[in-house]
Amino acid sequence: MRAAPPPPLAAQPFPLSRLLGIALDALRTGADERGGPLPAGGPAAVTARVRATLGDVLPETGTGQEEALRTLVHLVAAGAADPAHPLCAAHLHTPPLALAAAADLAAAALNPSLDSWDQAPSASALEAEVTAALAAEVFPRASRPDALVTTGGTESNQLALLLARERHGPALTTVVGANAHHSFRRAAWLLGLPAPVTVPTPRGVLDPATVARTLDGLDGPVLLAATAGTTEEGLIDPLPELADLCAEHGAELHADAAYGGPLLLSRTHRHLLAGLDRARTVTLDLHKLGWQPVAAGLLAVRDPADLAALGHTAAYLNAGDDTEAGLPDLLGRSLRTTRRPDALKAAVTLRALGRSGLGALVDLCMERAQDLADLVEKAPGLELRDRPVLTTVLLRPAGADDARVARVRRTLLAGGRAVLGRAEADGRLWLKATLLNPHTTPDDLAQLISLVELAEGDTDR
Ligand SMILES: *Cc1c(COP(=O)(O)O)cnc(C)c1O
Repeated sequence: MRAAPPPPLAAQPFPLSRLLGIALDALRTGADERGGPLPAGGPAAVTARVRATLGDVLPETGTGQEEALRTLVHLVAAGAADPAHPLCAAHLHTPPLALAAAADLAAAALNPSLDSWDQAPSASALEAEVTAALAAEVFPRASRPDALVTTGGTESNQLALLLARERHGPALTTVVGANAHHSFRRAAWLLGLPAPVTVPTPRGVLDPATVARTLDGLDGPVLLAATAGTTEEGLIDPLPELADLCAEHGAELHADAAYGGPLLLSRTHRHLLAGLDRARTVTLDLHKLGWQPVAAGLLAVRDPADLAALGHTAAYLNAGDDTEAGLPDLLGRSLRTTRRPDALKAAVTLRALGRSGLGALVDLCMERAQDLADLVEKAPGLELRDRPVLTTVLLRPAGADDARVARVRRTLLAGGRAVLGRAEADGRLWLKATLLNPHTTPDDLAQLISLVELAEGDTDR
């Protein structure tokens, strides 16, 4: 028997386009079958269906390309929590732009790897331009700011702590707010740094007076991590005051703008980020308010000399004589080795939409958050935590206890009706809506409110 020819490669456009047709069709049939923001029935039903459809993960004889692609893409689409559905609004889980997904497909087909120039000649040159341009948005007054592409805020925060440790040594104290992202604790743990000193944030943001007292009580090098867009409430720490405090105390400032960073592109809202460029390092995610498929993270650094600490040599990737002869040395641009060209989809998006196009998307999501807050204020059975600063709205059924708020959320999930998150604020549990979908309409939000009210009625006391 003659062996079958190997399946076609992605770089062969004709087979790719035929398979892509199948994948797109399966995305549609899967979404049609789901009919809502997530599959009904909860984890047991979803897992049972996945197991039943998947059967043998590695059969002795394969089912063939078309069957496998159609069946499994349909399965995953039918069982997706779809961030493009307006009633899926729990997390910083963005609906990616079709454009960015198409660019990401091209990246997957070409498969450049950003660990050496000979695997990514133009992709590495493109990345250098994109990172320099985005770093200049973050640090407009710096002479040669730079940025590294990361898998997201978690990796960016970890790199920021690592670079600070390399500047100051392992006795570095990190100071974070109770409102900061959980990744700082893990990063400190992973890097062998003392556990971060945590400043309470009863109002959801760092209070400069409290931070000043904390800094007064510390000896040795300090890195203060402020947040521009808290994950729980979408609030922005008072960056100018915190930058002043750091300057007075000889501390350094890192700003985690994973969520809020893209406000820089909005003429209307960029003032909310005043002081951001006084940080030494800034975390930014384009897979949140940037509408990119995961992953699209950045760590921007004001002073490119800070990145020297990441320099690393592997003879097969960046031998000294190759570097001297002019081949770019890419290994110091990440802690990873093989690395996707995530800058391509971002570059395509920036070019296609421009600053005003992206700023308009930010503005739309900001408006929807105000609309949702208006609706909550008007609903007699609901309580609003506060007017939103970014695109996060916290609400709860008035008079419900925390356990009941949690049950309302699970009722909506189990019914496949809506995906809302949960957040603790003010010592209580809230339902969290994070609005990242620029296509969401005020009518969708009215429906979301009705679903919460209905679920409240359906949930056992
Ligand atoms: C989302 C988020 C992170 C983590 O980013 P990932 O991309 O999920 O790794 C860090 N900080 C803040 C403030 C975030 O909102």
